[in-house]
Amino acid sequence: SSLISAERSMAASGSNKIDMSAYWLPFTPNRYFHQNPKVMQSAKGAYYYDNHGRKLFDGLSGLWCSPLGHADPRIGAAINKQYETMDYCPAFQMASEATFTLASRIVKMAPKGLNKVFFTNSGSEGVDTAIKIAIGYHRVMGNASRVRMIGRDRAYHGVGMGGISVGGMVANRKMFTSLMIPGVDHLPHTLNLSQMAFSKGQPKWGAHLADELEKIVALQDANTIAAVILEPVQGSTGVIVPPEGYLQKIREICTKHGILLIFDEVITGFGRLGANFGADRFGVTPDMLIFAKAITNGVIPMGGVLVRGDIYDSIIGHGGQEQAIEFFHGYTYSGHPIPTAAAHAVLDIFESDDLVNRAKALEPVLENGLHALKGKAGILDIRNFGLSGAIDLEPVPGKPGLRALKVLEACIERGALVRVAGDCIAVGPPFISKPEEVEFLCSVLGEAVDIAMKVK
Ligand code: PLP
Repeated sequence: SSLISAERSMAASGSNKIDMSAYWLPFTPNRYFHQNPKVMQSAKGAYYYDNHGRKLFDGLSGLWCSPLGHADPRIGAAINKQYETMDYCPAFQMASEATFTLASRIVKMAPKGLNKVFFTNSGSEGVDTAIKIAIGYHRVMGNASRVRMIGRDRAYHGVGMGGISVGGMVANRKMFTSLMIPGVDHLPHTLNLSQMAFSKGQPKWGAHLADELEKIVALQDANTIAAVILEPVQGSTGVIVPPEGYLQKIREICTKHGILLIFDEVITGFGRLGANFGADRFGVTPDMLIFAKAITNGVIPMGGVLVRGDIYDSIIGHGGQEQAIEFFHGYTYSGHPIPTAAAHAVLDIFESDDLVNRAKALEPVLENGLHALKGKAGILDIRNFGLSGAIDLEPVPGKPGLRALKVLEACIERGALVRVAGDCIAVGPPFISKPEEVEFLCSVLGEAVDIAMKVK
């Protein structure tokens, strides 16, 4: 039967050349995919080119990870040079010089006080690392009872066991519920369409939802809680923008009760919100900040956690004898020289090409383009912040997610890529986009919604 499905897959690909029998696609409806496989062949600048010869505007910067567009020769040159100089260096007990300087460079860009960097290979690993640092920190401070974590409904923190435990996406957890890390509570998410549908930027309503944190603290006792983790803007579940004042309130409550605040900025970090980090844009400084994706422009995996200096000092200071390892955690590829070289090149380009300001300048173009779709049949909400936005669609009755998949296909036919999750469509174009390309993306999306509304 696997042979038969392989043949079917080959036929469906339309090329008769690609053997699709073995690859299990992540976060993909694999059966539906094989009816209409999407195969990308090359990428340059703000465009992908698929196996049907179509040129597709990259409306989500890869998976939010390629703000500089694709195939910038400066990143490739840095990677090649590093490969020739030193292709790998053990991550434990030693490091390449460029890894030290990269950490310092990231610290210079980061909110004040976050002055240590622990490197990982992905956002998911960054999340699990931050959870461990939080719990380890409280333990060395003599608060070993502080092990509980607080996440939010609809949060996405990657797919590690820690990440799905603090995450709030039901589908990601349901096969594994009995294996979650214990002691996690979830704050409500902040999306309420009866109060804030079609808000531009930050909704005015909803800061009071932060008070739910006080309720959890009262129930569980502050002395059992290690940290609150949240995405400043919830990305994967559809660009859910924090209400005005909400993050400030969360910060105040955490500080009051000695609870660490962790921002997961895997999507929002490095310019997506028109500032280096969401923390800067919102004026709220967390105690740890997780980054990944754009640090290498998605060219090669890298992630990490920015950590408040005194958290590092406390853990290192309790390391026993000087020759003893203080924190038993790390990855073979932490601070790997090749992604490190890519990251330096990316940060050079951010500086030389003024990319954060370019993202900021495109924000109103995206806002206007998306909100021009208001009033179309089937659109329940439109949200935007920074260079990111989303629309919620009325689902086809009894077939959740189908309408959004149809939007994706109609967008591809018209020359643009978007991201679908459930019946939500997200966009986050590259910072190098021209204003007319962002307008094109929005108008294609509008046409695609009209087409998808015909699906029953
Ligand atoms: N955290 C957030 C906020 C994310 O958006 C993602 C990925 O989209 C992750 C964590 C996981 O990152 P990765 O897929 O690199 O493990």
